[in-house]
Amino acid sequence: MITQIAESQNLMEPVYYSGKSLGLNKSLISRHAMTVLKVLRQKGYDSYLVGGCVRDMLLGLEPKDFDVATNARPEQVRHAFRNGRIIGRRFKIVHVRFGREVIEVTTYRGAPAKTHQDERTHRVGEEGRLLADNIYGNLDEDAMRRDLTVNALYYDPATDELLDYHDGLADIKQGLLRVIGDPVERYREDPVRMLRVVRFASKLGFEIESSASEAMDQHASLLTNVPAARLFDEVLKLFHSGSAITTFEKLRRYGLFEYLFPATDHILDKEEAGYPRTFLPLALMNTDKRIRQGKPVIPSFLYAVLLWEPLRQFKEAAMRQGLSEYDSIQQAADQTIVEEISTVAIPRRFTAQMREIWVMQYFFDQRRSRQVYRLLENRKFRAGYDFMLLRASVGQAGQDEAEWWTQIQEVDEDERRKMLMSLSGSSKKRRRRKKKKSSS
Ligand code: ATP
Ligand code: MG
Repeated sequence: MITQIAESQNLMEPVYYSGKSLGLNKSLISRHAMTVLKVLRQKGYDSYLVGGCVRDMLLGLEPKDFDVATNARPEQVRHAFRNGRIIGRRFKIVHVRFGREVIEVTTYRGAPAKTHQDERTHRVGEEGRLLADNIYGNLDEDAMRRDLTVNALYYDPATDELLDYHDGLADIKQGLLRVIGDPVERYREDPVRMLRVVRFASKLGFEIESSASEAMDQHASLLTNVPAARLFDEVLKLFHSGSAITTFEKLRRYGLFEYLFPATDHILDKEEAGYPRTFLPLALMNTDKRIRQGKPVIPSFLYAVLLWEPLRQFKEAAMRQGLSEYDSIQQAADQTIVEEISTVAIPRRFTAQMREIWVMQYFFDQRRSRQVYRLLENRKFRAGYDFMLLRASVGQAGQDEAEWWTQIQEVDEDERRKMLMSLSGSSKKRRRRKKKKSSS
């Protein structure tokens, strides 16, 4: 069986095209990527652009980053560049850094292991997951190891030659995501591929080929095998790609979301009648809008949004047990974070910011004059304020209060003092009324 597979791999021949004939716009290639390709060639190695950058250029989109495939070994690539660093354990790759731009260089990978006997070369774990994949191969084999046909196109700008091993070009034209090989097997080897399929389907507006789609329906639970640390970055890529709302819908549709945000998913499933949970979809639409407008998006805000529903439930439960609202939020933040990080390992600096965003909501609602300046000076004020606006737009915070917070940022110091005075007046009145009530 193994030899048969190897033989069929050797038989695989790419179809050659010229980039020009496909309307591929070379000016979209970063000059740093060009440098990397050129240096590798000069040293006598193969080098091709591969993956998302070729796919995107064929679609007339500006590539997000540039990936290079080569027959040079990681150590050889590193030696070819002063600014090269080997990273990764599972897949050794070389990052060649030019200021803020990083060109990712990968050595051609060999054919996948089929049995546990191959463990020394490809370590295979439970459920057939590849734990290490550092066996090198030739270009034909490398093309087999790629996830999707549309991601397995190789382009050499020096010769304008484009190599298509799996009919990826036809799939790009059709707008179709097709997994290379057997989807179930490929998802087993690396369940993150399911998230990648969803990400590209949403971002590119592509259809998912039926066997790839059915395999996701049936094997979403494979995601439990993915280390929590790896999922942190994947979640960011999923939701910061500019199509968070479509991504969210697809993740839910394939039952993948529950393996990323189990507590949130549980609540969404039990949507109370007549009380739709509109906060999360609205927040995700807002994230997409910010990205379209070129505004910054931060991981802590995204995770604060995705975990807001569980936080609210924990908070309500704590309040029912007699804790103050403030203590309830703190306790709920602990519970929400502890539960989530076993699934998605959110680094501590981000969980600290999430907590800040959540706790700020309490102070936004209270509007205690003593706290106002403190809040305005908080480094995460802007994030907290944006979060509050979202809550206000779904009725979780008052519109008047939201308007007040917008105004106080815009007015001069005099006006600000007046706003605070009227606030302390009204809060004194509130307190007095309360006292009367309790003494009666
Ligand atoms: P983008 O960079 O636009 O998000 P991309 O397709 O370039 O999309 P990368 O994560 O940069 O994605 O990966 C580069 C290429 O490496 C992919 O196009 C694909 O060929 C291959 N690849 C990445 N991750 C996997 C994986 N989990 N399994 C198989 N191949 C992969
Ligand atoms: Mg890429």
